Amino acid sequence: MSTKDYLEKDYYKVLGVSKTATQEEIKKSYRKLARKYHPDANKGDAEAEDRFKEVSEAYDVLSDDKRRKEYDAVRSMPGGFRGQQGGGFPFDLGDLFGQQGGGTQGGGAGDRIGDLFGGLFNRGGGTRTTGTRRARRGADVETEVTLSFGRAMNGVTVPIKLTSEAACPGCRGTGAKAGTVPRVCPNCEGTGHETRNLGSFGFQEPCKECHGRGLVVDDPCPTCHGSGRATGTRTIQARIPAGVADGQKIRLKGKGAPGENGGPHGDLYVFIKVQPHRVFGRSGDNLTLTVPVTFPEAALGAEIRVPTFQGQPVTLRLPEGTPNGRTFRVKGRGATRRDGTKGDLLVTVDVQVPQKLDDQTREALTRLRDTGAGDDLRGDLLAQAKQE
Ligand SMILES: [Zn+2]
Ligand SMILES: [Zn+2]
Repeated sequence: MSTKDYLEKDYYKVLGVSKTATQEEIKKSYRKLARKYHPDANKGDAEAEDRFKEVSEAYDVLSDDKRRKEYDAVRSMPGGFRGQQGGGFPFDLGDLFGQQGGGTQGGGAGDRIGDLFGGLFNRGGGTRTTGTRRARRGADVETEVTLSFGRAMNGVTVPIKLTSEAACPGCRGTGAKAGTVPRVCPNCEGTGHETRNLGSFGFQEPCKECHGRGLVVDDPCPTCHGSGRATGTRTIQARIPAGVADGQKIRLKGKGAPGENGGPHGDLYVFIKVQPHRVFGRSGDNLTLTVPVTFPEAALGAEIRVPTFQGQPVTLRLPEGTPNGRTFRVKGRGATRRDGTKGDLLVTVDVQVPQKLDDQTREALTRLRDTGAGDDLRGDLLAQAKQE
């Protein structure tokens, strides 16, 4: 009997019994079918002969408690160990099988594996719950995305490649070399734990033979060295909303690792990095911009054209006597907020001092100086500096 047979053949179906059927039920059903398809009763009927073989094979396995347990275990191996960590955690066997199922939601790999086998082989010493496996939410996954300033402003759908743990293709997740199956651990008889006696106290601890797994692999799969796992990748399309800022963390519900046994997907957290823009900055929902203005523009007032991130430049009216560093607000030209409204564009003026003077400018400035404006500019400063 090979792993492949175990994976592909539904012996319960062949015998027409439920997965929880008792040995009595299995025997009864087998006898009925064996009589029906027996070669003596179906001379020359090849189909009946095949059916007879199938029924016998199914009975061979299911009538033997130990083999049935192995069969159930192999059949319960998930199509993949689908829980995953975004970073592609390095697993070793100790991590995989060393931990007992803690039952915590969204726990590490050890929890998941513990849970997987904990459900198969009840290790609590209470009622047997073989075959019942809890639905489990998939793990949350974290990843990072770097966006240009424009894409962050406009929103974008980005493909995100996620590394995940999948079933090893060599052994289809069983960890056993092709053609072999894991067998029930003889030390703990599949319970995954053993009891150690300390005086009058009995301690339960993970079975040392199978590390709590309940199964032992005699010939490990050469591809995965018995872990049953391989690293797979999948690509998802992540919608990044307009207006995301550098350092923001976006939660994409249900885009994380798939759940197990019908559990919901985990979430995907995307850590956003935004490349700076040459001209525009960000302050919350607002964009920031510094514009140079001349001294006469600031002093006399002016209408200046300032760029906006999208669309046409706007005209900004500087009042007479605008000081250096004053910030003006252009409504609705900022980043998109979560509710779809927009922040503002904050324009800060940077008054420039002329660096090269032609004769005309020099003359004009000299005249300005000679008007006396600014004579007492530092008067208060000098007076107040004397204060103790
Ligand atoms: Zn064991
Ligand atoms: Zn393998």
